[in-house]
Amino acid sequence: MRKQLVETLKQKGITDERVLKAISKIPRHYFLDSAFEKVAYEDRAFPIAESQTISQPYTVAYQTQLLEISQYDKVLEIGTGSGYQAMVLAELGAQVFTIERQKKLFDEHSKFILRKKYSGIKYFYGDGFEGLPTYAPFDKVIVTAAAPFIPPKLVEQLKTGGKMVIPVGEGSVQQMLRLTKNEDGSTSQEMLANFSFVPMKEGRNN
Ligand code: SAH
Repeated sequence: MRKQLVETLKQKGITDERVLKAISKIPRHYFLDSAFEKVAYEDRAFPIAESQTISQPYTVAYQTQLLEISQYDKVLEIGTGSGYQAMVLAELGAQVFTIERQKKLFDEHSKFILRKKYSGIKYFYGDGFEGLPTYAPFDKVIVTAAAPFIPPKLVEQLKTGGKMVIPVGEGSVQQMLRLTKNEDGSTSQEMLANFSFVPMKEGRNN
């Protein structure tokens, strides 16, 4: 089923072999409620706790491909959710720092069985708009919730030459942007395809 998923992603235009390999290695059904086990490898988003979602594999592959991950890249992820995206990044050799604002989703990771396999991932309960100043700067930033605007603190926490991939928009559809941070602190932006994410919200929620 995982091979079939990889074929589907190729047909939809994912070309980075390393990304496809990472997806072929991760058992996505572990991230879903057992009721969804049979459909876990379909290219669809699924509900997880707290009315949040595990992103569609195509979306995960698309964002990951845009990040151009190198081994040991320090990557900040906003919106841990199920943890699937974080593990795809870890599979590519990134050092992952991931933030979730929902306490219940954050707490669930401590007992998740794949946590041991990807023991390098660092999980934080907090507000993604703030980033992680203590651990900055990052080579890459990935936002996996719909951002109403580009959070300035996340741009600050990016290294020069670093990249951020972020879906921006307040309606039901957002546009994927890829920002590259220039030496003078400004950013160059590429406007890419449209996607639909759950909203990025301010503050923590317990
Ligand atoms: N990357 C996830 C996708 C999760 S959906 C995966 O692979 O499954 C988006 C997640 O972003 C939700 O869990 C939501 O609670 C979280 N989120 C929304 N706003 C946030 C914020 N300001 N800071 C941190 N997490 C946030």
